Amino acid sequence: MANTIRAEIARDAAALRAEGKFVSLACVQVGAKPESQMYVNSQKKLCASLGIEFHMVQLPDTISQTALQHKIHELNASPEITGIILELPLPSRLNTFIAQRAIDPNKDAEGVHPVNLGLLVYGIAHHAPCTAMAAYQLIKSTNVDLRGLECTVVGHSQIVGKPVSLMMLHDFCTVTTCHIATRDLALHTRRADVLIVAVGKAGLVKADMVKEGAMVIDVGVNRVPVPGPDGKQALTEKGKPAFKTVGDVDYDPVAEKVAWITPVPGGVGPMTVTMLLRNVVNAAKRGHGLNL
Ligand code: NAD
Repeated sequence: MANTIRAEIARDAAALRAEGKFVSLACVQVGAKPESQMYVNSQKKLCASLGIEFHMVQLPDTISQTALQHKIHELNASPEITGIILELPLPSRLNTFIAQRAIDPNKDAEGVHPVNLGLLVYGIAHHAPCTAMAAYQLIKSTNVDLRGLECTVVGHSQIVGKPVSLMMLHDFCTVTTCHIATRDLALHTRRADVLIVAVGKAGLVKADMVKEGAMVIDVGVNRVPVPGPDGKQALTEKGKPAFKTVGDVDYDPVAEKVAWITPVPGGVGPMTVTMLLRNVVNAAKRGHGLNL
């Protein structure tokens, strides 16, 4: 699915370039952040392969809130920049919400500006948060009629849980949104025809917590130690402790029970970066006054 959408993005980007129009992503990063470097690298690589210009805007760790916003305003005003992403986390002394609000909503590649989040209430997803949109697109790709289905979303963050809950509500699902204070999580997950899990806790959802034949979208990304034959953590070829990436759902036993499930890695992740670049191309088209 990600590949099909990527081919459409490449075609649209080529058409814009052929008319001499800009289509580009500015990636704003404050300080060196090893944890977000992998995401930045994958954006850069995918931009190159799809014909979208990538501008790395590396800012010092010591930058002030005002200077950061000034830089964002400069990018907003530049006709060469059609999409902007602010890499998180920012240093704790900076206010993320205020910085995100400085991004022009029409260039908001991640769909995190309050205007774009607010539009979701009206069912308008021009610049929807990429991860929520990735989960939603995967669900829609099954062609299952969602009307009247029970949908449980575990996690209520601004970028995943809340927006995906609104998207599913828009399709007339009966939506339950769970979070850290939910008293009996299994009660809600067991009822779900569609279960979306976005928490960040490996093994949170076990097989006895899902309904037979359900659809499960695992958004979580967790690094867990790989056990060795002696029960201790295995070592890599270089002798370092070995880790692997898993989701929030206990994949193998759950997969035996359900009709649909996304793996981690390889499920929501590749779709998320694809949705980011689709937002960039759509923003460029809209910015150049073209119909979508
Ligand atoms: P977050 O930390 O902002 O939110 C976590 C949510 O989980 C909160 O709503 C919290 O109340 C809830 N929660 C915590 N413990 C819980 C529990 N025991 N039971 C029920 N709810 C609980 O996280 P986020 O930014 O929404 O990300 C969630 C996960 O998705 C993380 O693992 C993150 O790495 C991953 N993620 C993946 C992608 C991707 O592209 N695949 C993108 C973004 C985030």
